[in-house]
Amino acid sequence: MSREVYDIAVIGGGIVGVSTARAILSGQNCRLVVLEAEDRLAAHQTGNNSGVIHSGLYYKPGSLKARNCVSGRDALYAYCEEKGIPYDRCGKIVVATSPEEIPRLDELEKRGRANGLQGMKRMSAEEAREREPHVACVDALLVRETGIMDFTAVTEAFAGDVRARGGETVFGFRVSGLRRAGAATAAQAGFGRDSSDFVVWSEGREIRAKNIINCAGLQCDRIARLCGSDPGVQIVPFRGEYYELTEEKRYLVKHLIYPVPDPRFPFLGVHFTRMIGGGIEAGPNAVLALKREGYSWRDISLNDMLTYATYGGFWKMAAKFWNTGFAEVHRSLSKKAFVRALQGLVPEVGFDDVTRCGAGVRAQALGPDGKLIDDFRIVEDANMIHVLNAPSPAATSSISIGETIAAMAHRNFRLN
Ligand SMILES: Cc1cc2nc3c(=O)[nH]c(=O)nc-3n(C[C@H](O)[C@H](O)[C@H](O)COP(=O)(O)OP(=O)(O)OC[C@H]3O[C@@H](n4cnc5c(N)ncnc54)[C@H](O)[C@@H]3O)c2cc1C
Repeated sequence: MSREVYDIAVIGGGIVGVSTARAILSGQNCRLVVLEAEDRLAAHQTGNNSGVIHSGLYYKPGSLKARNCVSGRDALYAYCEEKGIPYDRCGKIVVATSPEEIPRLDELEKRGRANGLQGMKRMSAEEAREREPHVACVDALLVRETGIMDFTAVTEAFAGDVRARGGETVFGFRVSGLRRAGAATAAQAGFGRDSSDFVVWSEGREIRAKNIINCAGLQCDRIARLCGSDPGVQIVPFRGEYYELTEEKRYLVKHLIYPVPDPRFPFLGVHFTRMIGGGIEAGPNAVLALKREGYSWRDISLNDMLTYATYGGFWKMAAKFWNTGFAEVHRSLSKKAFVRALQGLVPEVGFDDVTRCGAGVRAQALGPDGKLIDDFRIVEDANMIHVLNAPSPAATSSISIGETIAAMAHRNFRLN
């Protein structure tokens, strides 16, 4: 870690932070450091996700998600090809399991066309079963652009590029304080007007930087507040739990099988995913976590729970979705209920055919009106950029998001 002043400190060594650092350094020679709280990259959302390269099927045409997913997806396939990172553009099917779901599948197909997907094909139930012999459906949509990869491997490769371009990655640096040099606290600093450097510290260590990029995922709203910015949203952690098909039952799923999602939620519903490293995962569900990095029901933080429970938007959301929330909790606590959901897609999956296998926690931004923020949210403040909502498909979109933030930084930062 250098004692000189960095031009940019990126907070967060997930795929978004590291991709941003890489994009900045590919267009600009500057002193940049990535500060990561844990002892490795991709320790949270990035390293605990489904490993799916999304096609761009689901997102509102013209939204940041739609644009960044489509361009980021192709850029990512090309990057993996160039670096020799394993991937498989294996495609997926979205299946309607009852006639009532067919209009929603039609809508999805329309969205996919609006987002420029060329590889879609509507399939009859018979055609779908030629591809996935054990699936239950009345109608299906094949999406060939979808694939699988290991996002931790991608993040590590991005970090290799960052270091090759003169950037630094520092581990075990959990940002716990931040102020303008000369100002005692963030509140006194008057960040909007001050042009002095930032002092960023973590348990006895500190660095100085002219500009800050906040890519802290589950902690991004806290980091924004620490910087003196009002994030305008609250991060609510939603855990996604996975089961794995036993080795003997892997034949039940060949590729990826998804349900038609409920359009009221930003989550896709439990599905089957073939993993690039082998094995078939089933999940993730979506339960409110009791801690930001709460990977099981045993992980509890009163402080984290208080921050969302005292936020007005939380209770507005809870009033709207309490019944779905209870159903998700039931499915989390009862393997039987989880398996029942899976049987909706593949009826032959039995209780003993799946075993628990980990979880990831989504950093979902919630507005004061109780609405879950659907699109990516990246905001600028004086010498700062805050990534305040980067849920799925941000891993797929990471190259494109990185380039978007790099363009903001080139426009608005004090860079030599
Ligand atoms: C269960 C699940 C399944 C998903 N499936 C997919 C998928 O299949 N495809 C897809 O494209 N996307 C998927 N996503 C979404 C995707 O994983 C995220 O959008 C993406 O990883 C976000 O990356 P990030 O860098 O913003 O966040 P993170 O990966 O969470 O990185 C943030 C980093 O900031 C660090 N940090 C936090 N606080 C501090 C601090 N104070 N100081 C320093 N560092 C700090 C953390 O340690 C962490 O490493 C999924 C997410 C989940 C949870």
